[in-house]
Amino acid sequence: MTHPLPALDCQTCGACCASFRVDFSITESEAEGGSVPRGLAEPLTASTCRLRGTDHSPPRCAALTGRIGEQVACAIYRWRPSPCHEFEAGSDACLRARRRHGIDAPDRP
Ligand code: SF4
Ligand code: SF4
Repeated sequence: MTHPLPALDCQTCGACCASFRVDFSITESEAEGGSVPRGLAEPLTASTCRLRGTDHSPPRCAALTGRIGEQVACAIYRWRPSPCHEFEAGSDACLRARRRHGIDAPDRP
């Protein structure tokens, strides 16, 4: 019988915010009437934006504060774009990001 993974604590992680490019519709940017602050939404194409810093090498969203794997916060949590809302703790991508940053997932009980 398998058990679900224990809940992952995102506030002591932050790995996903420093692993992937984060693109979203330009309509989510403040400039187009959305919520993502101007300084963080970099125009990418006529219809999309990218979170500043997520295409750097190594990537790190400019809205992420704190130390990855210790204590982090999203400076625009209420205004973050939909990919951030939709990213699931415990998903394959989450576990991949954690491994990339040397943060182990808790063992199954
Ligand atoms: S990598 Fe997973 S556990 Fe870490 S902050 Fe992102 S969603 Fe949360
Ligand atoms: S906006 Fe916030 S939740 Fe989204 S990648 Fe940046 S720091 Fe992470």
